[in-house]
Amino acid sequence: MNEQNELFFKFDQPLSVDDIAAYLSITDKKQIGFVQQKAEQILLKECGNKVYFRALVEASNICRSDCYYCGIRKFNKSVDRYQMEPEVIVGLAKQARDLNYASFVIQAGERQDAGFIDYIENVLCSIKEQTRCDKLPDGLGITLSVGEQTKETYQRFFNAGAHRYLLRVETTSPHLFSKLHPPEQTLESRINCLKLLRDVGFQVGTGVMIGLPGQKTEDLANDILFFQDLDIDMIGMGPFIPDPIAQGVGGMEEGVECPSPETRVRWTLLMTALTRIVLKDVNIAATTALQAIDPQAREQALRFGANVMMPLLTPQSVRKNYNLYPKKSMRDEASISFHKELEKRIHEQGREIGYGAWGDSLHACKRNKT
Ligand code: SAH
Repeated sequence: MNEQNELFFKFDQPLSVDDIAAYLSITDKKQIGFVQQKAEQILLKECGNKVYFRALVEASNICRSDCYYCGIRKFNKSVDRYQMEPEVIVGLAKQARDLNYASFVIQAGERQDAGFIDYIENVLCSIKEQTRCDKLPDGLGITLSVGEQTKETYQRFFNAGAHRYLLRVETTSPHLFSKLHPPEQTLESRINCLKLLRDVGFQVGTGVMIGLPGQKTEDLANDILFFQDLDIDMIGMGPFIPDPIAQGVGGMEEGVECPSPETRVRWTLLMTALTRIVLKDVNIAATTALQAIDPQAREQALRFGANVMMPLLTPQSVRKNYNLYPKKSMRDEASISFHKELEKRIHEQGREIGYGAWGDSLHACKRNKT
């Protein structure tokens, strides 16, 4: 048996950390193509060929957290802070519905004060009420991503109409996690939140950053097995993009470089494929951060097993203040021209767009028997 066959032989058995780490380490184009094909084959068999759109709105950049990698961390005093008016967000939700996107994502910086919780609850209720129509009797499907909260808060958000929640664990390596966050932010607390979200009834999404300084392929392999252990429904992960401003004072360890942009993109595509191969029927997003390194890579991720895309609807006037990392796209992804272009590129890859459907994670639907 030649080396290539030996390496790829085990795809139909449970993969170990060492297997996954070995697949992540490949650089040969042919071998990468083999992993890509296997992921695509599993995606088409388990989930079909539809790509689901979620319109993404970044509602506020006010944040109590101080994640060292993030451009809107509390420490960064050079950012103009904003909170979008609820009516503006509802207007964007209607615009998304009119584009026939049946799902909406609200992301924001992390706050636990009563004013913020009321604000999000109110926005959720308004979107639900105002996007109901004949085609969507339950309104838009809403995914929320506003960080760590108490179980009571998660329950309120669920009752107000959000039914999916994204909370990236960022890395499951305790060592790396502690390098990325101040001592009061812990990996245990994040994992606990993922469990609370599941208890409340959300479809739960998580993910990691790929190519962190000091991160090894074994760490990433463990991340995939963590997704499996926690029975996660949705995955959003992208390359780490160093931000010198964010990293500033009290930030990440100096002197440890992250891998090259090419490696971070390759690892992200391979992570997408291997997550599909291991988890099979979950939803996996082709994330925006990929685009910051390589304009083609977000769509390429669709060939590596991703089935969700999140066009950015945040208005340009505030988007410049939601720079989680440098070179974030400033394109108006709500425009008809962008939409048509994206649609064409997706069709060119033989994929359809799941217009008018929430596009829930099949994994969650099977677990909940819905
Ligand atoms: N407050 C929300 C949203 C966080 S921002 C929450 O806590 O869930 C969304 C994601 O952007 C983060 O989870 C992180 O994975 C990613 N991100 C932030 N800074 C980044 C950077 N420098 N490079 C790559 N991804 C980054």
